[in-house]
Amino acid sequence: MGASGVLVREAGQVPALDALILPGGESTTIGKLMVRFGLDVAITDAHADGLPIWGTCAGMILLAKRIASGGERGGQPTLGLMDVTVARNAFGRQVDSFEAEIESSLGSVRGVFIRAPYIVEAGEGVCELARYDGKLVLAQERNLLASAFHPELTDDERVLRYFLDEVVGSS
Ligand code: GLN
Repeated sequence: MGASGVLVREAGQVPALDALILPGGESTTIGKLMVRFGLDVAITDAHADGLPIWGTCAGMILLAKRIASGGERGGQPTLGLMDVTVARNAFGRQVDSFEAEIESSLGSVRGVFIRAPYIVEAGEGVCELARYDGKLVLAQERNLLASAFHPELTDDERVLRYFLDEVVGSS
């Protein structure tokens, strides 16, 4: 899509990035490793200098300023950048994972939800891009993009195109 990707493992790589995607996975584990390797500080510093960031699923949890308690243990390390409250595993357990067509401001997108979170509350600077079943699953705040689902597991390039053109391109 005209952008070259690099796998980021070390804090020293972060200052050279034009944009960053925080992947899915397990947000508690990713958060702990980010702290251990100094990636949390490197990423928040780079974001303060304008680095655009897209978080998918666990990545969305890592972006959030607040995590709803909902039975989860509090206090997990996050970046705390986006003015949203996120509920983890909010669509249910692993067996409740599903795919769905989502009507979004970007058009209809295919969403793969794997123990997905959703946004339960968003500050006024946050723009809603898509809801599924009434739940906020795609949102943007300035140069931060958050998706509860995994566009990278489909052939649907719309969200990545939106990130490159509208979020990275305009910042
Ligand atoms: N349930 C995971 C978490 O809470 C997220 C799952 C995912 O990234 N697909 O971090």
